[in-house]
Formats: sequence, structure tokens, C-alpha cells
Amino acid sequence: MVKICCIGAGYVGGPTMAVIALKCPEIEVVVVDIAVPRINAWNSDQLPIYEPGLDDVVKQCRGKNLFFSTDVEKHVSEADIVFVSVNTPTKTQGLGAGKAADLTYWESAARMIADVSKSDKIVVEKSTVPVKTAEAIERILTHNRKGINFNILSNPEFLAEGTAIADLFNPDRVLIGGRETPEGQKAIQALKAVYAHWVPEDRILCTNLWSAELSKLAANAFLAQRISSVNAMSALCEATGADVSQVSHSIGTDSRIGPKFLNASVGFGGSCFQKDILNLVYICECNGLPEVANYWKQVIKVNDYQKTRFVNRVVSSMFNTVSGKKIAILGFAFKKDTGDTRETPAIDVCKGLLGDKAKLSIYDPQVTEEQIMRDLSMKKFDWDHPAHLQPSSPTTSNKQQQVSVVFDAYEAIKDAHGICVLTEWDEFKALDYQKVYENMQKPAFIFDGRNVVDAKKLREIGFIVYSIGKPLDS
Ligand code: NAD
Repeated sequence: MVKICCIGAGYVGGPTMAVIALKCPEIEVVVVDIAVPRINAWNSDQLPIYEPGLDDVVKQCRGKNLFFSTDVEKHVSEADIVFVSVNTPTKTQGLGAGKAADLTYWESAARMIADVSKSDKIVVEKSTVPVKTAEAIERILTHNRKGINFNILSNPEFLAEGTAIADLFNPDRVLIGGRETPEGQKAIQALKAVYAHWVPEDRILCTNLWSAELSKLAANAFLAQRISSVNAMSALCEATGADVSQVSHSIGTDSRIGPKFLNASVGFGGSCFQKDILNLVYICECNGLPEVANYWKQVIKVNDYQKTRFVNRVVSSMFNTVSGKKIAILGFAFKKDTGDTRETPAIDVCKGLLGDKAKLSIYDPQVTEEQIMRDLSMKKFDWDHPAHLQPSSPTTSNKQQQVSVVFDAYEAIKDAHGICVLTEWDEFKALDYQKVYENMQKPAFIFDGRNVVDAKKLREIGFIVYSIGKPLDS
């Protein structure tokens, strides 16, 4: 029986391994993590992450061929294939701070694999890592463990949070990069055989190691660039009277451009886009390509600009001050169908409004009060002074008085002067807006950061509506 062990039971490791276990009943899959509460949650009815369909998949195989454990060393030593799906955040200190990937977790996982291995292993990079990481990992593994063969593969994950299970069941492609040696090709075939249980052969792409590593960074950079491009257009639409939805539709019907990922919004978030572009910027700089670095940096700058523009619009619309005014924040997760708030645009929007002394009442169906309060106390990276992290403002205690987290959209909205829709949860489309209007201060403002509400209908009720990239009277 082939044994797989995955180090890291997070948003990627958990769902990916659950799907491998489901599709490959003859393979034993153990997901290990040093975070005890996370593993306990994977072994309970309250999984640590929210993903549509995940509960079902886990229930079908947990205890049969899918296991979650904190006994990292034991399961790594017994495995034939070790996936490494640990976090690779942006470095916050030292060389490359604010841009380079922090590979501390990766390095410690690699050293541990070397220490505990007693048999040959295929080690799979599942985390998103800088191009050439496999070379460093090979050095760590082979120097620390003579006589054992380690074959490194790059198998980056392309799932999107919120649709992770559907993406894993039916991936656009699975990418496997390996060495062009006979051993490297044999390792590729072994991993290919796992995915071949459910992924059609023509969707399993095999490349060299560096192409696979770089493809993941390139894919995220292209996706984020597309959002920044449409968001940049949304600003021009507002200035000229064009409607960004009409522009997106018009350009999306060009088969070279395509219709997906062209929705204007308050900005992109999530743990990956910004981090991976920063990483790409750093790699370009290290390779003597400052112009290429600047090109990608601009994608993040436009994203920051979009969030600032949104906050400025809220404040300027509400008579140039939100001081003491209650603003309902509908949605805090970085997108719908996830409880993940990492790099969510809601953080910057809320901080901007708090800076103008607004009172925020925040509701998100999947995000906890603890997450929100932690996120709003986070420090923000300053592009122009990378060595320093700015102090958060206003102070945490003031902020706690200014922020309440509630468990119902109508409660958030009660007596509010304005509403900001920051996540495209379906339930925000279906609210009884007549009732909402009656329970708000007048004039009642709604700022739709995701273009999900029916602006025309809301204007008929009496709301003043701002939609991203649309004329104010449309
Ligand atoms: P995560 O933070 O949710 O999970 C990582 C887990 O690794 C944590 O639970 C942590 O405790 C564990 N870990 C760290 N060091 C460990 C060690 N030495 N031994 C055992 N466990 C250890 O991160 P994630 O969102 O799952 O992302 C993982 C990687 O996948 C990142 O590189 C990310 O860029 C990439 N990725 C993420 C997504 C996404 O949508 N979240 C999509 C594609 C790729």
C-alpha cells in the first residue's frame, strides 16, 4: 500500500489530501501538523476551515484511509511520498523583508524529513515557493541524510478557496515538475499515478522543476493583474460615465481575453496574491530585473489604491466625515464561501473608516469576532519604509470601542448611517432592503464594494447607492 504523508493541515493540505484519500481508496493518507488545535478540529465535527463540500469528503474517508495526526515524525518516516504544504508567508524582518518568501517553515520541515527518514522518499513541494527552492531543499536533504534517495517534485496547488473541493475534483490542470534524470522522471510517474485516479491524462502537465515552481507564481500574478486591470478601469469608468460591467462584458467577449475574472471590486485579498507577487518582485530584483519587478509591483499598488479610493468615496459621500456615524460592514472574508480573512480588503477599509472615527458594526456569516479583532489590530507594511512596520492606528482600546461584531445582517444595519458590502455573500443580495431602509438613519447610504446589490431597485426605495465603476445614477 502506498503511504502518503502531508506536512501542514491548512487550507491546502487538508482539502487536497482529503480528495486524494477519497479518490484513491487503496492509498493511506496521513495529514500531520504541529498545531494541536488544528489537528483536533480535523478529527472533530467542527473542521478548522469552511469549504463547501469538505465536510462530506472528510466524513467519507476519515478513519478509513485518511488520518490527521500531530505525530509528525512517525508518519513522515513511514511515508513513500511526503507532501509539504506548510505556510510560506512574506518575510517581515531582515533581508528581503516585506517581499521575499519566509521559508523558515519549509526549511524546518525539510530538515525534519532528513532526520527521520530511513527509506527513499519522494518529497513534493505543495506550498507556493520561490523558483529554485527545490535546489535548496535537495541540498538540505542530501547533505543531512547520506545513502537515502530523495526525489523532489514541484506540484503547486491551484485551488481557489471557496471552491476548493470542486477545483480539486475537476482541476483545469495538475502540474508536476521534476528533474530530467531517470530518477526524476520515475518520481513524476509515481505522482502522476496518484492523480490519474480521477484527473484525465491530458490535464496532467509535466515540466522541469523550475517551470513548475515559477508557473504557480506566474499564475497568481496574472490573475491578480487581471483584477487590478479591471479595477483601474473602474476608476476611469466612474470619472467618465462608462459602466465597468458593460466594459467587462464587451472586452470579455473577445476570445483572446475571455469573460472570467473581470468583476470590478474593492480589491483582491487572500493569503496568496499579494504574497506571491511580492515574492515575484523580490526574485526579479535579485535577478537584476528591476523594470520587471516594477511592472508587477504596480499590480499591488493599484489594489491598494482601489481600497483607499473606496474609503475616500464613503467618507466624501457622507458629507466628508464619518466621525461617530455607525457604518454596517457586510462581509469580512476576502471572498464568499470561505471564513478566511487573510489580506482581506475589509481590513484596510475598516481601518480607513476607523481612522476617520466611524463606529463599525461588522457581520460575516463565517468569520469570528476573534478573527476580526485580531485582524484590525494588525500592523500594516509600509512600502516606502520597508525596515519599519507602522504602528496601527487608532489604538487597540479605542478601536474596541468603535467596533462591534454581530451575528445577523439586520442587527449590523440597525440605526446605521451607511452600509459597506465588502464580501459577495449570496445572503446580501437577498436582504429585505425595504426593511433595511426603514431601520437606517437617513439619508441611507450603501457602498457596494462587490457590485452585488440591485442598485436601481435600492435607489427606488430611497437609498443613495455607490457601485464600483458605475455612474452614480445608473
Ligand atoms: P495554512 O497556514 O493554512 O497551513 C499551513 C500549516 O502548516 C499550518 O497549519 C502550520 O501549523 C503547518 N506547519 C508549519 N510548519 C510545520 C511543520 N514544520 N510541521 C508540521 N506542520 C507545520 O496555509 P495554506 O493556506 O494551507 O497554504 C499552504 C501553502 O499553499 C502556502 O505556500 C500557500 O501559498 C500555498 N497555497 C495556498 C492556497 C490557498 O488558497 N490558501 C492556494 C494555493 C497554494
